[in-house]
Amino acid sequence: MTTKIKMCPEDIIPLASIDYEGVNVDRCPMCGGIWCDANELDKIIESKIKKFDKETINNVKDLNVPSLELNIGKLKLIARKCPVCNEDMSKSDFSSNIKISVDRCIKDHGLWLDEYEIERIQILRELKK
Ligand SMILES: [Zn+2]
Ligand SMILES: [Zn+2]
Repeated sequence: MTTKIKMCPEDIIPLASIDYEGVNVDRCPMCGGIWCDANELDKIIESKIKKFDKETINNVKDLNVPSLELNIGKLKLIARKCPVCNEDMSKSDFSSNIKISVDRCIKDHGLWLDEYEIERIQILRELKK
């Protein structure tokens, strides 16, 4: 195997390859963050295997507000590094109507999602339809 091991940008430990709704993604065993290669997230969002209950959906709806000033305090001064190319990633909202800030590789290798963000994105995508 010559595949380079991807590391968690947060904990600097190797990511474990897992199956998420039929798509292979890399998950950190420590913080639960997930690395999705550029096209993997679309596949997951389209798959819609996971079903969410009403309460979960409502909680997520309430959280979908523009990134607040108060979040700035939590932001790290050092940008997370892309597990593929090790360049700094840039933080931005997932999309114009999904206000979840994710780390994206500036070279488009993929994006880093904190624990549960992938579920939140899936739910919000569903709601927009
Ligand atoms: Zn981690
Ligand atoms: Zn990269």
